[in-house]
Amino acid sequence: MNISRPQADPLIAKLEILADAARYDASCASSGGKQRSARPGGIGSVTGSGLCHAYTPDGRCISLLKILLTNFCIYDCLYCVSRRSSSVKRARFTVDEVVRLTLGLYRRNCIEGLFLSSGIARSEDDTMADMVRVVKALREEHGFRGYIHLKTIPGASAELLREAGLYADRLSMNVELPTEASLRRLAPEKSPGRIKRGMATTRSFIDDAAEKPRRAKPKTFAPAGQSTQMIVGADAASDLDIMRTSTSLYASYALKRVYFAAFSPTGHPSPDLQSKPAPLIREHRLYQSDWLMRHYGFGLEELAGGMTGGMLDLTIDPKLAWALAHRALFPLDVNTAPREALLRVPGLGVRAVDRLVAARRYARLRYADIARLAGAMRRARAFIVTDDHRPGTEIDSPALRARLVPQPVQLRLL
Ligand code: SF4
Repeated sequence: MNISRPQADPLIAKLEILADAARYDASCASSGGKQRSARPGGIGSVTGSGLCHAYTPDGRCISLLKILLTNFCIYDCLYCVSRRSSSVKRARFTVDEVVRLTLGLYRRNCIEGLFLSSGIARSEDDTMADMVRVVKALREEHGFRGYIHLKTIPGASAELLREAGLYADRLSMNVELPTEASLRRLAPEKSPGRIKRGMATTRSFIDDAAEKPRRAKPKTFAPAGQSTQMIVGADAASDLDIMRTSTSLYASYALKRVYFAAFSPTGHPSPDLQSKPAPLIREHRLYQSDWLMRHYGFGLEELAGGMTGGMLDLTIDPKLAWALAHRALFPLDVNTAPREALLRVPGLGVRAVDRLVAARRYARLRYADIARLAGAMRRARAFIVTDDHRPGTEIDSPALRARLVPQPVQLRLL
């Protein structure tokens, strides 16, 4: 973030430390937020689709201020750069500093909202209370109507969680690792039970607010719901383990999202914690699988069928991996196949499938129509049939996979 103030400014020095420390938290777009506009005297707005916008005169739309309140921490979780025994530089914002920074950056159209997380400085309740003070001051004293994603602290009181949800759009509590056994091994001071209780408490507040009272004004509590984050690659959990855990978390706590954060071994002392190969690609494949389960109707066990040793294929996306492993189900006639089947065609997204299902009500679709509705056909071509297109034996060809694997690209050196 380029802020035109002198480096000597202590606030900027803190910002450098606490924005850097926050990059290990997976944040989110403001999807799912409630429509909201500024009241007189307030600033900011969130659109109906939850996109919080701050347009500059040239039309740029920009993101969240993502910081920790402090990176001091009384815990010593081995996978965390802010752990007590880490030698990183430490800093702590005051409540007022975070409020001023957020408002200042918002007014300058540098951000569209705030993502606030924190180490645990003195106690869970102390830290959570300070975070609540920040969001309360922003909303109540300054009329701030931008998007707020607040990390909540496992072990903080239910009353503080309740207050947090009155002001934040989204709350999230990190489940940290895919299994309780890993959490006990790498963060023995943390309690899986406290994390579960915290998420269950937040869910109960969200459910409670969703119940429509007959006469009273509906209550608002974290309108963009709750989410959680899991670190990928710090333990031996397979992709299948991770997906099983995330599926169960979605169901238990009505989560909007499970974020995956590739483990970064930088500065970690334990040989246990040396990251596995390609952690970012692994994280990406997990996001794709999560997306397929939530929006494309794939079941966990179906995707598991395309894995080797419980691990997703890193070279191709999970939908293509599934289709290549189920070639007997293809090619599909786009003029007659049900929507659910078409969603499984590599290269056809939800929007493209909906468009072609709508279009085929009026006319039989030809290959050029599909290309026009879906865009690039490189991946879909072998998996579909139209009146003027048949892939022939291509679907059974051993060369099909090789043709569809993305080719490595040489990056520019200069
Ligand atoms: S409690 Fe949170 S901030 Fe503190 S060491 Fe553990 S993961 Fe890091």
